[in-house]
Amino acid sequence: MAIRVWDYLREYEAEREDILDAVDTVFRSGKLVFGESVGSFEEEFAAYHGAAHCVGVDNGTNAVKLGLQALGVRPGDEVITVSNTAAPTVLAIDGVGATPVFVDVHPDTYLMNTDQVAAAITDRTTCLIPVHLYGQCVDLAPLQQLAERHGLKILEDCAQAHGARRNGRLAGTTGDAGAFSFYPTKVLGAYGDAGAVITSDDQAERDLRRLRYYGMEDRYYVVRTPGHNARLDTVHAEILRRKLRRLDGYIAARRAIARRYAEGLGDTGLILPQVAPGNDHVYYVYVVRHPERDDILQALREFDFEFNISYQWPVHTMTGFAHLGHAAGDLPVTEAAADEIFSLPMYPSLPEDLQDKVITTLRKILARG
Ligand SMILES: *Cc1c(COP(=O)(O)O)cnc(C)c1O
Repeated sequence: MAIRVWDYLREYEAEREDILDAVDTVFRSGKLVFGESVGSFEEEFAAYHGAAHCVGVDNGTNAVKLGLQALGVRPGDEVITVSNTAAPTVLAIDGVGATPVFVDVHPDTYLMNTDQVAAAITDRTTCLIPVHLYGQCVDLAPLQQLAERHGLKILEDCAQAHGARRNGRLAGTTGDAGAFSFYPTKVLGAYGDAGAVITSDDQAERDLRRLRYYGMEDRYYVVRTPGHNARLDTVHAEILRRKLRRLDGYIAARRAIARRYAEGLGDTGLILPQVAPGNDHVYYVYVVRHPERDDILQALREFDFEFNISYQWPVHTMTGFAHLGHAAGDLPVTEAAADEIFSLPMYPSLPEDLQDKVITTLRKILARG
């Protein structure tokens, strides 16, 4: 049997009654758009974070995009982030007409190298987007100092870091706003596309509600542009309410798998994930590194073993971002990592026998040398 890098079917079997009840609850409520489930999920997700507000949106890309607009980012502004991220982080910046400016990452955690941010700030910079990549948080303290000094906003990209903490603080609760995706593979995943922004800024909350609803505050009247149709779907909101109650359990299961991988693979020459001091990692993905990555992946093919690379192509090297004018070599740590990293199967319902198969298969391949 193929070992998939991500799968939800076992989880669905275990939670099927609850998920179907969520769907039925919405279908029988008489309200298929907005309705009680959206408001309740927003309240519960905000409460989980101790944030004043949560505004549900249709996906994580729009969570970043509307988050930027709500924080006042305008066309022509510059937004500093990383190239070692999911392309949507950068697409969202591009989508509001701002210019993405990249800094490199740390070679051990692959997270934003915050030491490089000061030099990247210009008089057009208005916002910083630290990406809490793979399930652990960027150190926001140096970014907060810079933000204060230069009058910048901080939008945390939390799409991979639901429930992750740094020095006790949950991802999304330190900056001006936190953008989340509930794409099915994420640590908190819907059964389709969904997203949300959390913030304790009352004005940003009002703007987010208007931005996701055609630019309207009341029905049929656009008060201000830009406006989008970017509502959180009601069915997904109700499913997310149910799954939010189990979020800490999902995270515990991911951590248990990570521990098992670390015990089974610690002596193989694979570079395992490094947890930065103060971080509680939630292991959205389990990223390992090896100089002979491509040979290992080739060998894995004969074992019917699915793998993933997050990310094979740094955003600044993609043809779709050629207009940013970057060349290979601009972000050496990011580019070197992209050639050597890959991700092991990771999802809460991954059975122990498959975890063991992952370990024994990799040990076999790596022992061949
Ligand atoms: C998944 C992801 C997004 C985009 O979320 P979608 O729901 O797929 O639009 C944005 N940023 C990061 C870091 C992600 O991992």
